Amino acid sequence: KTVPVRRALISVSDKTGLLDLARALVAHGAEILSTGGSARTLREAGIAVRDVSEHTGFPEILDGRVKTLVPQVHGGILGRRDLPAHVRQMEEHQIAPIDLVAVNLYPFEATVASGAGAEDCIENIDIGGPALIRAAAKNHAHVAIVTDPAQYADVITALENGGTTLDQRTKLAGAAYARTAAYDAAIAAWFAGQEGEILPPRMIVAGEKRESLRYGENPHQKAAFYTDGSNRPGVATARQIQGKSLSYNNINDTDAAFEAVAEFDEPAVVIVKHANPCGVATAATQAQAWDNALRCDPVSAFGGIVALNRTLEAEAAARIATLFTEVIVAPDATEEARQILARKKNLRLLLTGALPDPAQGGVVVRSVAGGFLAQTRDSGRIMPDALKVVTKRAPTPAEMADLIFAFRVAKHVKSNAIVYAKDQSTVGIGAGQMSRVDSARIAATKSADAANAAGIDHPLTQGSVVASDAFFPFADGLEAAIAAGATAVIQPGGSIRDDEVIAAADRAGIAMVFTGMRHFRH
Ligand code: 5GP
Repeated sequence: KTVPVRRALISVSDKTGLLDLARALVAHGAEILSTGGSARTLREAGIAVRDVSEHTGFPEILDGRVKTLVPQVHGGILGRRDLPAHVRQMEEHQIAPIDLVAVNLYPFEATVASGAGAEDCIENIDIGGPALIRAAAKNHAHVAIVTDPAQYADVITALENGGTTLDQRTKLAGAAYARTAAYDAAIAAWFAGQEGEILPPRMIVAGEKRESLRYGENPHQKAAFYTDGSNRPGVATARQIQGKSLSYNNINDTDAAFEAVAEFDEPAVVIVKHANPCGVATAATQAQAWDNALRCDPVSAFGGIVALNRTLEAEAAARIATLFTEVIVAPDATEEARQILARKKNLRLLLTGALPDPAQGGVVVRSVAGGFLAQTRDSGRIMPDALKVVTKRAPTPAEMADLIFAFRVAKHVKSNAIVYAKDQSTVGIGAGQMSRVDSARIAATKSADAANAAGIDHPLTQGSVVASDAFFPFADGLEAAIAAGATAVIQPGGSIRDDEVIAAADRAGIAMVFTGMRHFRH
């Protein structure tokens, strides 16, 4: 079942590692067949190579659209060496067997990502390459299919040991079909985009496995982590500097925290537990932002995920390190900050190099029983000029700044979301309740607890502002917020009872603004 490689076909767009592979093939007695550009690269390096066109007696035509799509090539790949009829037919038609195929495809994804025009994208749809890959993968009982430079080292080792093994060829075949499937998924997604659709008519997720996870949300669930090839700065592209391996829940929570912290321009800290922020603050310094974020709900913050929107500095790192924290994620960290955290062996430090752009588009997918839901990202961001004051009293500039802050936080809190804030810090967060009144009450109760813990004799919500992710259907939710001490409110508006809600605000002398934009999050 070990197949020595007597003849190999090489046709690669990405020439990384090509020479090492080719030299190993030649050293172990293989003849190399190759297409135009690949053959040239090999020849220039002094490696013996035969042009596919010479081998087949048929030239490359149509600007390379037809290079390897000929029976001599596909017959040489697909013929079964264990069937006498196949062997006889191959001899009859002078088809030489090919034992190894190394192909990587025209860079369609990179061409699209570069913003190229339609003609360019279409020209980068590889036809012969996927045909070679699929043919060789189908006949993996006899042929090895190599589709990624990352696989070359193992293949070279196999050559040194006399040839490729069935086990290895089977794994390579699986990877090969995953590659052509992802390639076609990217092409189909591009066509969908041309037609103004968010995804193709058949839902195809193209991703690359980053790692297997120990388990999923619970220990009896299996799980794995994939990157989507977009290179968007975030948990999927982060470098882990230290700490235990990430769990499924860590990844989910880290994503929530990092997406939230990217909303802010000033130094900001977001602390997340169970995918909801339990403390968010921006301040002149990172260390101050941490203190303020922590004060909101220090009980929940224990064992949380901390996200920062700037290079992590030593002072903030030292303060964070005093609390048990699962993950810290930031664009970068100073050397000093890294040294401080290095003492906490289990703490995971993730660095992303950059912040995601909250306004960037994209598609998010979730599964439902028997199907999927797809939607564009919630890339909506309220801008100060779009806000409408609906009460007799307008917010003061300080209230206005806190209202915008609170509403940006509310976007990242599970609905029903109620967020109290003061001085660019959350002081009470009510998340994930089935009734908006409950969210308002819970946020206030938690805030009173936090004040108690800090030895402050009044609830932190006193004199704060409040944000609601969706409109108040009745005045009761607003009244709960007023009772908690809120002086200004921000909410989308748009309820049929807006008049009642506005009247309640006016009666209490508080200011209210409408955003016209809702931020449900489930
Ligand atoms: P080269 O740089 O060697 O000229 O071309 C290598 C690329 O051509 C590889 O990406 C391979 O997938 C692709 N390729 C190989 N055969 C064919 C073919 O018959 N038609 C097309 N369109 N592409 C091919």
